[in-house]
Amino acid sequence: MPMTRRQLVWGGAGLSAALAVPAVQHMAWGRRDFARPGYDPFAPDLPGRASWMNWSGSQRATPVAIDFPDSEANLADLVAGTPHRIRPVGSGHSFSALVPSAGRIVDVSALSGLYGYDPATGEARFGAGTRLFEVARSLNELGRALPNLPDIDVQTLAGSFATGTHGTGNRLSALHDYVTAFRMVTARGEILDINAEQAPDLFQAGKVSLGALGLMTEFTLKTVPAFRLRRQMTIEPVGPFLERIEALGEAHRNFEFFYSPGTGLVAWLVHDIAEGPVTDRGESEDEDFLAGLKDLRDTFGWFPWLRRQIAGMAFPRGTVEDVVDDSFALLSTTRPTRFNEMEYHLPRAEGVATLRRVIAMLDRRQDAFFPLEYRHVAADSAWLSPFQGGPRASIAIHAAVDEHFDYFFDAFEPVYRAVGGRPHWGKLNRLDQAGAASLYPDFNRFRALRRDLDPDGKFLNPYLASLFGEAFDA
Ligand SMILES: Cc1cc2nc3c(=O)[nH]c(=O)nc-3n(C[C@H](O)[C@H](O)[C@H](O)COP(=O)(O)OP(=O)(O)OC[C@H]3O[C@@H](n4cnc5c(N)ncnc54)[C@H](O)[C@@H]3O)c2cc1C
Repeated sequence: MPMTRRQLVWGGAGLSAALAVPAVQHMAWGRRDFARPGYDPFAPDLPGRASWMNWSGSQRATPVAIDFPDSEANLADLVAGTPHRIRPVGSGHSFSALVPSAGRIVDVSALSGLYGYDPATGEARFGAGTRLFEVARSLNELGRALPNLPDIDVQTLAGSFATGTHGTGNRLSALHDYVTAFRMVTARGEILDINAEQAPDLFQAGKVSLGALGLMTEFTLKTVPAFRLRRQMTIEPVGPFLERIEALGEAHRNFEFFYSPGTGLVAWLVHDIAEGPVTDRGESEDEDFLAGLKDLRDTFGWFPWLRRQIAGMAFPRGTVEDVVDDSFALLSTTRPTRFNEMEYHLPRAEGVATLRRVIAMLDRRQDAFFPLEYRHVAADSAWLSPFQGGPRASIAIHAAVDEHFDYFFDAFEPVYRAVGGRPHWGKLNRLDQAGAASLYPDFNRFRALRRDLDPDGKFLNPYLASLFGEAFDA
């Protein structure tokens, strides 16, 4: 792996001693507190009240109740019978305000597992609450796989599709593009069975729905024969690398990279179809690497030149990983270190020029240390898909969970919006109704369909009411 924490600290100590760094500036930086005031790692604790927070703690709620219906019929009864508003939740891995509700939060994780598989078409039916890793393992037992996966695989199918969750690859579309049919409970408690032929509008709207059209209970998905991948990771200076992004994206099945602010170096990853035995990979050192980047920021962030030199000494160069495994075992990993994130999907032609700006802006921010992630996603046709109408280049920036992220909105979001960027619906953004209508040709069709299905706003919360231009009183 690229760089261990110990290598960084040793490298840093050695170089700073050699340079006899100015002690006053060093000490002033060392006293700096990066913590965000008010950060609380725990969910609200109100005796006798249900409470909920998302993975990063940036969204919180104290609803009337959190419900766990154990069948589609019970879910339909709950929706029809309750006077409260309802928001569905998956695994709570969205950063945006899609889930919080003062009404009821409904978790469909009991509607989970493989419901059926048709060998003639390769289509598989799953409960909407099935997590991606369960989908991948069930399909693997049938000799099948999903074509692509995101960075992690604990999200539910319903949650992933609702926000346009994606992996990377020039010829690979986002996950909702695998959906061929779905079942959902409407605000009136009816159960609808939807596919492209019988309800084309609802099908294109429902694939990326923000959980605003109904409660999904089941999905039918296209699958492909199970496959293995070879992963190669390479570390090199960012300057010359930027010229090769388009070629690398074209040449490899999956292509992405990470840029660590203040280091001048990228770690790029490709996955390609492979045969052969699985490679023993040992323990991941990703967390150690991240801790090393934080140490580097904490200690040498005040002196960008020195920080870059130390990173340059401590990182290895060239190919640092070359392994083979089943597709699902390589495409998704775990992310134990929590963060907050903004990701924008830019028209592909704007990707590299915008990336250059964003890297320069991150490098100027001496407090940034979390790596930026850059990916490619192919087009699809869902009405609210960020990839509707053409392929996109995705830039994601992150901040440690207990640190400031207000600069995402003030400094970075305007850069993305200026080139027609669309935000990941599940990540931090301030896109409003007018902005969404200007970015999505079918946004107002979606609004009209939502209003037809849910005229009383049963599935609204304050964020969705504002986005869709609906009145909202608690
Ligand atoms: C560590 C981490 C890594 C990530 N990596 C990626 C990545 O690589 N690529 C990417 O694109 N995104 C990524 N994400 C974002 C994540 O995939 C999305 O936010 C996704 O929507 C989360 O799914 P979830 O099951 O947690 O759903 P939640 O966040 O709980 O909900 C998401 C939406 O789905 C709706 N919903 C949930 N269940 C239902 C239902 N039954 N019916 C109708 N609507 C429903 C909710 O109301 C909400 O609107 C990452 C997030 C984290 C925290």
